[in-house]
Amino acid sequence: MISFYPGPSRVYDEIPAYVKDAANAGILSMNHRSDACMELIKKTLALLRKKLSIPANYTIVFAGSATECWEIIAQSFNQKSIHFYNGAFGKKWYEYTKKIKPSVQSVSFLPEHALEPQAFPYTDSTDLLCFTQNETSNGTQVSVKILEQFRKRVPEALIAVDATSSLAGIYLNIKAADIWFASVQKCFGLPAGLSLIICSPKAIQRMREVNRYDHYNSLAFMVDMMNRHQTPYTPNVLGIYLLMRVLQKVKPIKEIEKITQQRFDRWSAFFNEHTFLKFFITNRNMRSKTVIALTGEPAYLDSLKKKAKKKGFLLGEGYGDLKTSTLRIANFPAIKQNEITALQKFLRSN
Ligand SMILES: *Cc1c(COP(=O)(O)O)cnc(C)c1O
Repeated sequence: MISFYPGPSRVYDEIPAYVKDAANAGILSMNHRSDACMELIKKTLALLRKKLSIPANYTIVFAGSATECWEIIAQSFNQKSIHFYNGAFGKKWYEYTKKIKPSVQSVSFLPEHALEPQAFPYTDSTDLLCFTQNETSNGTQVSVKILEQFRKRVPEALIAVDATSSLAGIYLNIKAADIWFASVQKCFGLPAGLSLIICSPKAIQRMREVNRYDHYNSLAFMVDMMNRHQTPYTPNVLGIYLLMRVLQKVKPIKEIEKITQQRFDRWSAFFNEHTFLKFFITNRNMRSKTVIALTGEPAYLDSLKKKAKKKGFLLGEGYGDLKTSTLRIANFPAIKQNEITALQKFLRSN
């Protein structure tokens, strides 16, 4: 079965061999306080910086999932935050945060309409703006250009970005925001169970001012530990090892992005011609490059997904409210060109 599911998604072919290597190298029962583990973490951080163009003055920490990152941010900053969302993941982030910080605000916008930085309800006390860079549920994106405009508009505020289904798939100017996070089961082509948070010096400074240490995953505690290449709790050492191996293998992000874009362009041309499947989002500027959301007759979509499964293609279900009216196809780097060609051949005749 070839998975085009936008998370958890197809992992790189080399993963089983890397797991075997991990077993042979004693990684599976490695002590997380050992020098060897600290060395592994150090190496992985250096590779992340190199391959994803993360500036040297940004701090990276590991967590378990993107959902955990939502809570870490809510617990670690004293924010008057505003959550901008147009889909299910951005909304969930807002709802998770609201349980912890009842005062947070939200701005929902239409999937077909780009955010306008000039038009949002900013007040002097706003100190954290939250965006879902790639909304996996409906196949839209908030462009980095728009993030940069928000940065100019509200230079004092921190900008936090959920990049779970785009980090490692497209080039993101890390300097355009203060807090980035993603889990690894999407564009990284890895099994689930690990996520990372990338923080600007300003985010670290703000976190120190708040100085909260009341959770095992308070960001301040995580950063203190990571300064010694450690984590507050036993981390997913195998996941970190696999991340390191994948990072050693993959091209720098700007080269990966070229391929993502080329493939996206080919998918666009393909669906412009398709009789029954259309892009769910008609505004081209809003379309995600890594998650393609398509719409069609619910009965057609349902039978297509079933037929595809029989032919060995796993297509992504619609998400949440869009379950029956859409389907999704991941355009993640671990998917191979010949698999895309095979899926297009199948879709052409169905
Ligand atoms: C998948 C996804 C999440 C949730 O990720 P977990 O690692 O399962 O917590 C959050 N945000 C976005 C945008 C996602 O695509």
